[in-house]
This record gives sequence, structure tokens and C-alpha cells, in this order.
Amino acid sequence: MTKTESGQPESTAKTVDPPADSEIRVLNPATGEVVGSVPDTTAEQVVAAIAELREHQRAWQAIGADERKEWLLELQDWIIDNTEVLADVLQSETGKPRVDSLIDPIFGSDLIGYYARRAAKFLADEHPAPHSPLARVKRLTTVFEPYPVVGVITPWNFPLAMPLLDVIPALAAGAAVILKPSEVTPLSALELARGWAEIGAPPVLSVVTGAGATGAAVVEHADYIQFTGSTATGRRIAAACATRMVPYSLELGGKDPAIVLADADLDRAAHGIAFGGMFNSGQVCISVERVYVEAPVYDEFVAKLTANVKALRQGRDDRTPRNDVGAMANESQVGIVARHIDEAVAAGAKVLTGGKRTGVGTFFEPTVLVDVDHSMSCISEETFGPTLPVMKVADEAEAIRLANDSVYGLSATVWTGDKARGERVARALNAGAVNINDVFANLFNFALPMGGWGDSGVGARWGGPNGVRKYCRAKAITAPMLPTQERELTWMPYDLNKILIGLGAMRAAGARGMRRIDIGALLRLKGDNR
Ligand code: NAD
Repeated sequence: MTKTESGQPESTAKTVDPPADSEIRVLNPATGEVVGSVPDTTAEQVVAAIAELREHQRAWQAIGADERKEWLLELQDWIIDNTEVLADVLQSETGKPRVDSLIDPIFGSDLIGYYARRAAKFLADEHPAPHSPLARVKRLTTVFEPYPVVGVITPWNFPLAMPLLDVIPALAAGAAVILKPSEVTPLSALELARGWAEIGAPPVLSVVTGAGATGAAVVEHADYIQFTGSTATGRRIAAACATRMVPYSLELGGKDPAIVLADADLDRAAHGIAFGGMFNSGQVCISVERVYVEAPVYDEFVAKLTANVKALRQGRDDRTPRNDVGAMANESQVGIVARHIDEAVAAGAKVLTGGKRTGVGTFFEPTVLVDVDHSMSCISEETFGPTLPVMKVADEAEAIRLANDSVYGLSATVWTGDKARGERVARALNAGAVNINDVFANLFNFALPMGGWGDSGVGARWGGPNGVRKYCRAKAITAPMLPTQERELTWMPYDLNKILIGLGAMRAAGARGMRRIDIGALLRLKGDNR
């Protein structure tokens, strides 16, 4: 590790210095206070940062997964040792309750442990078995080579965890990473850059702060784009990547349904769905955003859910955890929530609890809505806020039909006392993940893929080996297993008889029944040469 004269480790993660007049102010949404300002990085600076990353990536790839593991585990130590400070920074730019602010660093550490330790195994060369006896003359190898520079673009809802979820597997794969965090919450990402620098790791992580234009520059110049954010921005990024012919993975919005069946443990369902809808003020991509309840238990469930939501403590925390629900990220999010509720109420919906802003800052009361239907924006559009619209359904089939009536397909939950029924409903839902009798469980299982269907995304993060292999180009290598001849049977100039022997052998290996050995059919291929 290099140290400066003051004894501090020299910075190796890059943050780009912009002209002084181009800065972005960061606000604490719980108070409206300015808590920092960051550079609005220009496209030219992004290009320069990527060029520098390319230089250092080669060595990063060359040291191999085992040495990269050591750096990643150093980072994990640093995050664990700095958890409180990281939570302070995160809380200052999000207005989250203290408990929620502690989640990002610890969740991120868990992920680092998983991919740091397993990357070598996941990236090891593979020697697949040949598909046919004829192919046994070759030794087959699949090699995983990282994209040189991966661009990671993240939203504001988990300002440290979101970057870590994708930066870590990309670094573990041997890529260099340019990270463009949300302009709403860039401070936590800069802390990550500080950590990478303080451990003295190779300069293969660069954080560029800025808004959409900075993100667009990353999309224009990186070799792979990993994007998390809204579906609208995801579409723009997909189009830009298609033009450049670079691969991308998009983790987008959702409108996750919860299905409560009549045989469910209603107490658990009502607690789980209250948590799933209100955690982080509903600003989680896999928040529960709509609830379908079988008629026989509808009244009882709604009463329990409403009581649970009403009991949540909302307010501004300092370092002492007191509240369950904090502020929303910004005014524009509050505006969406208010619009969805107002439109629903105007169309006949009822608010059972919550329904309005509270206090100073961007606090919005946890809200339960009933008498809603699919014509309302609160059911059809992503709200990304603390609302739980609940609908009564006749039976399981209607619940599945309504749950699938969405352009999104990120995740879903099913609540039932019958395991087989839970599995059956889970398989019938159009979603990238279904949690039975739980919420968010898939998010804590890196061995599973996390990806959305439909407008919720393209590709997936994690999924065990795929989590690092997605940042690699697969290369196929063949090598002869037997001594080679002057020329192969099938090479030019063609010898029809030899070719027919080759084709006949291929057909015998791949076809079925008598077609494998139909010599007559083979001879007919000789055409006029018969
Ligand atoms: P957003 O799309 O507005 O912004 C996301 C990021 O993209 C930001 O860093 C932004 O600066 C950048 N950006 C904006 N325009 C760009 C462009 N043209 N080119 C490149 N980058 C650009 O999303 P948001 O409001 O920050 O986040 C909320 C959304 O994120 C919600 O829809 C939510 O569902 C989604 N989300 C999805 C997941 C998931 O894993 N599926 C996780 C969290 C959030």
C-alpha cells in the first residue's frame, strides 16, 4: 500500500476534478439541508477516466482471481470497520432511519465475501464434454475473459449497496469499473472510492459523479453497461448500447404483487406485506406495490395490515435508531405518491390509514388503500413509495390473472399455508423472482439470479457463477487430441467419397432410427456422379 507524507494511504480510486462552477448539490431530504456538493463530470472527463482504467485493467486481469480476492476482502474489512461512518453519510443524503442506513454496508460486505471467495472457481476454464463421439478428437476449452471496462450506473434508493451489488462482481471478474452513482445520492459512492483508495488497491475503480449526461458518456465509452434505474432510462441505454453493439444488463422498475390466499398465516402475511411495502418508504425495486387477497380472508387481512401499517414509527433519526420509516428521496417521488393516491381517491378508492405528507422534509405517511382497481395509476404504474393498494379477489386464478396483468415482472410474493399451492402459484406468475411466505428473500441469495421480466429488465445480476461470467466474454478454444494428418477428410480440394464418409458419420452420430444408417440416401447425395 502506498502512503502519503501524512501517513494516509495514497488515493488510487479516481474521482475526477471538474471546473469549479459545475457542481451538484446534495440535500438531506429529511431536512432540506445541503450536505455536500460533487463534481458534475463532463463527457471529456469520462473519456479520460475510461482511458486510464483501460491501462490498469490489464494488470488487474493478469493478477488472477486469487489475488483480486485479497483486495476485495481488504475492502470488506474497510467497510466493516467504517460501518458507522458509512451509515452517517448514507443517512445524510437519504433521510433514512438509522437501521436502514446500516443495511447497505453490511449487505455489501456479505456480497463481497461471496464473490471474492468464489470468483476463482466461477472463472476457471471449463472443458465441456464433446456433444458427439466424432468431436472427441478435440480438447474443448471455454475461457472467460473480462470486458476491459464495465460501466455501472446506479439509482438513489440504496446509495452504497446498489453500487456494491454490481461493482464487486465486475471487479472480481477482472474488469475495471467506472461507476456513475445517482446525482441524488453520490456521497456514499464517493465513500466507496475512498475505501478502495485507502486500502491501496490498484486504480481500477473510478467514480464519476454527475447526472444523466455523465451517465450517457459512460454508456458511450464503456465496454459493458450494467444499469439499475427506471424503465424509461433503461430503454435509452439499451438503444445506445445497440448502436455501439456493446452488451448490457438492465435492472429496472417493478410493480410487485402480493397474493394472500385464504389458507395463509394472516398475521405473518400482514406483517410481511407491511414490511415489504413500507421498507425504505416503499422505495425498493422489489417493494410490494399491490396486494390481492382471497375473498374469505379479505376483511380480516385488511384489518391486520392496516393496524400494522398504522403502528409504524415515522420520523427523522440521528445515530440512535428510533423510527421504522424515514423520508422519501426527493420532492418528485413525493409528487408521484400524492398523485397516485389523489387519482385513486377521485375514482372511488378509500384511504384506511396515511394518505398525506407529514412534518417538514419529504415524509409521506405509510398508506393503505382499498376499493382500488386496475384502471387506477396506484395499481398500474410503479409508485416507488409507501402505499399498499389492496384488492379483493374471488380465488387463486383471479389473483394470478390480476398479478400478471402488468407490463412489469420484477418479483412477487405468495402467502399460503400449503407448500404445493405456493409452488404452483409461484410458477404461474410472470416475474423474475417469487418469494413464498416472505418478502425480499431472493435479494439475500446471491446464488440466485436477480432479474426482471418484461419492462422490469434485461439480463440479471448474480446467479452464482453467472454473476461474474456476465462481465466476461466467453472464448472457445479447440485443440487436436490425436496426431494430425496433412489434411482432414473434409478439406479442399473435395473428394466426394471421403466427404460422404464424413457426412455419413455425422448423420449416424446425430440422427435417430434407420436414418442413421440409410446408405442409399447417402449415395443419392452424390447426384449425377452416381
Ligand atoms: P433513473 O433512471 O432516473 O436514474 C438512474 C441512473 O441513471 C442515475 O444515476 C441517473 O443519473 C442515470 N441516468 C439518467 N439518464 C441517463 C442516460 N440517458 N444515460 C445514462 N444514465 C442516465 O432512476 P432513479 O430515479 O434514480 O431510480 C429509481 C428507479 O430505479 C425505479 O424505477 C426503481 O424501480 C429502479 N430500481 C431498480 C432496481 C432493480 O434491481 N431492478 C433496483 C433499484 C431501483
